Amino acid sequence: MIQTADVVIIGGGIIGCSVAYHLTKMGCKDVVILERETFQGKHSTGRSAGGVRQQFATPVNIRMSKYSIQVLHEFHETMGQDPEYHPYGYLFIATTDEHIRYLQENMKAQLAEGIPVRFLSRGDVEDMVPQLYTEDVLGGSFCPTDGFVDPYSVMQGYNSRARAQGAKVLLETEVTNILTQSGRISGVVTSHGTISTRTVVNASGAWARIVGSWVGVDVPIRPTRRQLVNTEKFDELPTNLPMLIDMATGCYMRKESGGVMIGWADPDEPESFSTVFNPDFIDVIIEKALPRMPCLENAGINLRRCWGGLYDISPDHHAIIGPVPNLEGFILCNGFSGHGIMHSPAMGVSVAEMILYGESRTLDVHELTVERFAKGELLHETAVI
Ligand SMILES: Cc1cc2nc3c(=O)[nH]c(=O)nc-3n(C[C@H](O)[C@H](O)[C@H](O)COP(=O)(O)OP(=O)(O)OC[C@H]3O[C@@H](n4cnc5c(N)ncnc54)[C@H](O)[C@@H]3O)c2cc1C
Repeated sequence: MIQTADVVIIGGGIIGCSVAYHLTKMGCKDVVILERETFQGKHSTGRSAGGVRQQFATPVNIRMSKYSIQVLHEFHETMGQDPEYHPYGYLFIATTDEHIRYLQENMKAQLAEGIPVRFLSRGDVEDMVPQLYTEDVLGGSFCPTDGFVDPYSVMQGYNSRARAQGAKVLLETEVTNILTQSGRISGVVTSHGTISTRTVVNASGAWARIVGSWVGVDVPIRPTRRQLVNTEKFDELPTNLPMLIDMATGCYMRKESGGVMIGWADPDEPESFSTVFNPDFIDVIIEKALPRMPCLENAGINLRRCWGGLYDISPDHHAIIGPVPNLEGFILCNGFSGHGIMHSPAMGVSVAEMILYGESRTLDVHELTVERFAKGELLHETAVI
């Protein structure tokens, strides 16, 4: 067991790994990731749908996605790990005038940030995905550089590079408390002993609020289960099917391992740490997906590939990152609200720069501090799936 570290990162998911990679790349080598599980990515990262998109409503989310997707595009070459980035696009399907107005409003912000998004008529939507039921469709928006990645591969890319650059990863090491002295971080208590450090990064995903509470910092996130269903191999839809977002139901789907991955965020899901898949969810989601994609009637459900995982939902569906007031050395990187895979490159570089340079230089993320909640300066991300 090590006794000191320059930076201790609590949590070895994609966020902790990205922060460790960027810190070590920038020359801060004495970094340790503490992960209580026997393997990394167990609760959220390894259970994600892997979607990456720039079609958000707020400039800060659009900017973080734009930066991250560029990084993912070059990831194989720069990191030596194939992230399986498939730029098949995200297609938002609108069925009401309100949807159309909403997409067009968001597109203004996206185009202003240089995102190659375009508006589609109903005919365009039909041409793009002829298998869709489109009688009620009024149009859509499509961005061809959106798509999806393999979350586990991205995490492993960051993880192995971080380790090669000097970071240590301690598995089965639970952090149970954080120590402070005179208004600053002085160490962490773990299941294997205490580590002295002046900087702790809270990258504990759905547990961020509990970790924050140890030092009196309210990290206002709600751990919430999200579930995914996969079909057996299904050839009636092409491999390069875009990620489809049916705005009428909130249901989304894409191709995965030859089958179709289908997801839907149940707004009534209570706050919990449960990742147990509820078999009743299959009927619920099929009822939502079938009317839009009638050919799914011919697809069998792959019961071995249905799962639940955790979202860490913040009140305004934006990440909460950076230092906290009145406690030096405690850095947040939480509240991804279902966007942590796609924003992991942006988060890693921003947090590493904050720790080493006192500010985020690559990206302007100043709006994402925890202080926004106390000040009532919440952001408004509505493009949440
Ligand atoms: C069904 C589903 C679909 C999703 N789809 C997408 C998507 O399409 N696109 C996208 O960008 N995102 C998506 N997400 C969200 C994404 O998976 C998360 O935002 C991301 O994985 C968060 O990464 P993380 O590293 O913060 O959390 P995690 O991967 O959960 O890692 C945090 C780690 O901290 C550890 N930990 C917690 N407390 C302690 C402690 N006290 N001591 C030591 N270790 C501790 C945990 O064991 C955990 O391994 C989805 C999530 C789910 C569940």
